Amino acid sequence: MRLVFMGPPGAGKGTQARQICEAQSIPQVSTGDILRAAVKTKTAMGLEAKRYMDAGGLVPDEVVIGIIRDRVQEPDAQGGYLLDGFPRTVAQAEALDALLKELGSGLDRVIDLAVPDADLIGRLTGRRTCPACGWGCHVLFAPPKTKDKCDQCGAALIQRADDSEATAKKRLATYHAQTAPLLDYYKSRPIFRSVKGVGSMDEVNKRLREALA
Ligand code: AMP
Repeated sequence: MRLVFMGPPGAGKGTQARQICEAQSIPQVSTGDILRAAVKTKTAMGLEAKRYMDAGGLVPDEVVIGIIRDRVQEPDAQGGYLLDGFPRTVAQAEALDALLKELGSGLDRVIDLAVPDADLIGRLTGRRTCPACGWGCHVLFAPPKTKDKCDQCGAALIQRADDSEATAKKRLATYHAQTAPLLDYYKSRPIFRSVKGVGSMDEVNKRLREALA
């Protein structure tokens, strides 16, 4: 299965994507994760990307398109993949279509995880992750067993820099200006599904499995 997972920041794409990828045995290709890894190791690409990420904006199209071009051709992606957070602009979606055509493949589903704006800021600012093992939680909706500590390895949890309230608001504005127009790009295709991203994780997961069936 080749899947695209779209939705506003804070919709729960990453968490749901992880479960789907496990169930389908396909890699989760998250441009956000790849960029954060590059920022952490201070590569030239990471240093450039950081400026945009810290400001709540989008990294230039040519950078993320290059990342995806390389990543989908790796051996583990030959049986399919889930694109989490890509494409995020119409130019990226066009580049993806061109790349898939060149590779002789296509998408099986484009899923939009829809969550109303009013829910998103609280979801983003409450997120915490473990810098050691990658475990994630939410201070209100899925709190850790011990305050500020990772349930899996005990390390001190951190908040992503771009989940601060000011940056979260900018990311949401960026989403509406640049990513929401993508819905029109995909909406008329038979592979497009919009899935309600509100409710419990299990409820959302069930809807997603139905949308993938
Ligand atoms: P995410 O983890 O998907 O919320 O991504 C975190 C940040 O990485 C975003 O706010 C953007 O600055 C950058 N980013 C991730 N994916 C893309 C993309 N497809 N296009 C441009 N910027 C991206």
